[in-house]
Amino acid sequence: MNIILLAPPAAGKGTQAEILTDNYHLNHISTGDLLRSVSKEENDLGRNIKQMMESGSLVSDDIVLEVFNHYLEHTDNMNLLLDGFPRNIYQAEKLDEILKEKNSQIDYVFLFNISKEMLVDRITGRRLCESCGKVYNVNIDPLKPKIESTCDKCGGKLYARKDDNEETFNIRYNEYQTQTSPLITYYQNKGNLYEIDSSVSKEDTFRQIEEILGKR
Ligand SMILES: [Zn+2]
Repeated sequence: MNIILLAPPAAGKGTQAEILTDNYHLNHISTGDLLRSVSKEENDLGRNIKQMMESGSLVSDDIVLEVFNHYLEHTDNMNLLLDGFPRNIYQAEKLDEILKEKNSQIDYVFLFNISKEMLVDRITGRRLCESCGKVYNVNIDPLKPKIESTCDKCGGKLYARKDDNEETFNIRYNEYQTQTSPLITYYQNKGNLYEIDSSVSKEDTFRQIEEILGKR
């Protein structure tokens, strides 16, 4: 079983990926993690990727595909959960070819739906404890600390991360929209796109995924 997750920033994709991986014994592949690990290897490919990442340029489609292909050759678990890949139609088409060669295919593409306003609330309300790292959200009732700016667990001071602001979010959100909309059409046409309402709790979000996968 192969799954792709498509979700805007802060829509809970990471959490769902974790739950899915645990419950269905999937091989969670995040392209970012994969590239970072190959970039540490002492070979031409590794050095190439390291250079691209350091210069801040996007790693080219063919290199992403090469790394992905190489990884597949060396893994035992062919039940894939893809995160951040494919990034565009070219990669999606190549991915289909790679899987077809292995008599496999993409079975489910989960598209996380949530309003932009709600995402902004999540991002701008996020607070972390500077002592223990526990995460809070001052815009979401069940995630608020009991005492303002103070960690429930250890009494530490809470702070907002620099990146958790509306400007940074808008840039990432627009990138996501531009990148994802052609992929949505691509998978819709293939008939394997499933929409998930991710404005609800992580449990309710996962329940929708489980229902589609036909397992309870
Ligand atoms: Zn704390």
